[in-house]
Amino acid sequence: MRMLIRFTIFIVIMISMFSCGDNVKVVNTKPIIYVSIAPQKYMVEKIAGDVFIVKDLLPSGASPATFEPSPMQLRELSSAIAYFRIGHIGFEKAWMERIQNANQTMQVFDQSQGVDFIEADHSHDHHSHEHKHDHNHFGTDPHIWVSASQMQVQIENIKNALVNLMPDSAKYFTDNYEKLKVVLVDTDKKIMGMFHNVERKTYMIYHPAMSYFARDYGLEQLPLEYEGKEPSGKYMIDLINKSKKLGIKTIFIQKQFPEDKAKAIAKELGAKVVKIDPLAYQWPDNMIYMAEQIQKSLVE
Ligand SMILES: [Zn+2]
Repeated sequence: MRMLIRFTIFIVIMISMFSCGDNVKVVNTKPIIYVSIAPQKYMVEKIAGDVFIVKDLLPSGASPATFEPSPMQLRELSSAIAYFRIGHIGFEKAWMERIQNANQTMQVFDQSQGVDFIEADHSHDHHSHEHKHDHNHFGTDPHIWVSASQMQVQIENIKNALVNLMPDSAKYFTDNYEKLKVVLVDTDKKIMGMFHNVERKTYMIYHPAMSYFARDYGLEQLPLEYEGKEPSGKYMIDLINKSKKLGIKTIFIQKQFPEDKAKAIAKELGAKVVKIDPLAYQWPDNMIYMAEQIQKSLVE
């Protein structure tokens, strides 16, 4: 009985500690998983449900060129139980070792395993924060998240990683995964339908972040960037001539890149500049939106 009273008093004290006062800190007990970019956060959240807290390292709108994790992010990373890599983007290469050193118990999963990669001589200066890292990954196109088909491989990896981390919730994760897969398959079919009867196939984009998208739907991506750098005068002239032949009337640009070269070419062609954001969080809606914009540009 005395034990019970003491226990009750303990509970009352605990409740009062956590329930009154403005500066009571709410203790978060859910384990934290870190991912690199927002579209990954969307996928991991959909499968993890309420079991984990998912955080993305690259803030919305931040430039992959200049991005470095903040001291607060690094502190938080030290309490994460897992990190899901997208695979081949430069800042992962530049930071992964330091992140892992700061948190030796954190499990690192690579969600790109099994993906059908595009190997291209497409350098990726802007994703890397140190130039010496640029050439290590020359060849593998890292933008695997803008493919509805390749994303299906990735969400299976995500599901397997989550089951590995929390086997008791295996059924919950698998159910969530199955639901998400339906969304991905639907998105893929919808986009496929959009390009079915479109004759023109080539669209122009500042940074070639949509290669997997182009491959999935039989399109051709004409990048304004030349080997990962701002285009030179000669390349610009060639591009303008090619674009005139192809009847290009839209230039797509991502918000992380300078608009001036795109605007200069647009002026030459009498074309317009349209912004898209392949790094947006809301993946299904954004994929459909980007597809609609590209489709529109091919029939105008
Ligand atoms: Zn890129």
